[in-house]
Amino acid sequence: MKFQPDNNGYYGQFGGAFIPELLYPNVKELEDNYIKIIESEEFQEEYKDLLKHYVGRPSPLYLAKRLSEKYGATIYLKREDLNHTGAHKVNNTIGQILIAKHLGKTKILAETGAGQHGVATATVCALMGLECVVFMGETDIQRQAPNVARMKMLGAKVVPATSGSKTLKDATNEAIRYWIQYPDTYYLIGSVVGPHPYPDMVARLQAVISEEMKVQLKEQTGKENPDTIIACVGGGSNAAGAFYHYLEDKEVELIAVEAAGLGVSSGESAATSQLGEVGVIHGSKTILMQDEYGQIVEPYSISAGLDYPGVGPLHAYLHETKRATFMNATDKEALDAAYELTKIEGIIPALESAHALAVLPKMDLQKDQVIVVNLSGRGDKDLETYIKHLSQ
Ligand SMILES: *Cc1c(COP(=O)(O)O)cnc(C)c1O
Repeated sequence: MKFQPDNNGYYGQFGGAFIPELLYPNVKELEDNYIKIIESEEFQEEYKDLLKHYVGRPSPLYLAKRLSEKYGATIYLKREDLNHTGAHKVNNTIGQILIAKHLGKTKILAETGAGQHGVATATVCALMGLECVVFMGETDIQRQAPNVARMKMLGAKVVPATSGSKTLKDATNEAIRYWIQYPDTYYLIGSVVGPHPYPDMVARLQAVISEEMKVQLKEQTGKENPDTIIACVGGGSNAAGAFYHYLEDKEVELIAVEAAGLGVSSGESAATSQLGEVGVIHGSKTILMQDEYGQIVEPYSISAGLDYPGVGPLHAYLHETKRATFMNATDKEALDAAYELTKIEGIIPALESAHALAVLPKMDLQKDQVIVVNLSGRGDKDLETYIKHLSQ
């Protein structure tokens, strides 16, 4: 098994670049240059410096003693929630904004669902003094007012997507239409999705998570490898980063957790690996939730960051080859896990990250089993949801 994509961006049968002809030059320019740029000394110096002094990396690897006691295992939390802007997404936007600058781009385009990627993009555009346009579904603009305000304060132009269900999928379609119209714009994608080379580029930029984990585990346990890594999967970028340097180490168990919404078979779910079939979405071949006519089925999760009808091609491949185990958690299980972590460790996790925590009670754990849960983000943005459900 090979976990790096081939020259055409395929992981096994998944990946590739299914794009309109007009975008071919842009994607080709990125494809020809991204590895050269990422591996250059100049990029590495600037990227590492910003991650350290601007984002606050390395993020701590925290031994959660009371959580460990409760579940009878040795559980560490990789604290991506402590990053500037509150999640792992900034690792990727810092990297891509530097790549955009190397390519001479001055205008940045992004789409966002809950607004987390939009905020991380608007942040790095402010940092670099670049123009920023963010497409966001009209429904999401109403649901995620605080993030819309943050983006505006950061100087981004937020454009409502008014087609279809007015959510992420529609924002993506309109962003792509804009990109065709203004091809000198740099399209900054927020997860390991989209046409090649985006999935591989974003995975490389998030790989800093597992790079740090190796050093921190060695320091704290004497061994670089944990037994198990657990991460939630929307598009799959925080999981890709947490798994990246362990993909070839078969003895490290990788667990990807999807959002089951009201239950996998309820019709209100986002558990793509359980419900999806092979198809093309947002420029790559992967598994996605679709009906018998190939129309995308609207996903549902209480967590806006996991509410996506596909997964990145790397995850489709990890699922198909069984290198990773795919589990899922319902809204209710995620809420319970979030309340529990808050009560016993004093950490309010993002609803997305709470899905990763929610599989702990479903696992058969050993006392000396070293587990790392990737805590992808903090829960400030979810407080309204948490408080609403607490009082029920
Ligand atoms: C966006 C987001 C996710 C889901 O995106 P991935 O690409 O699957 O990582 C998970 N957690 C948080 C906190 C997010 O903001």
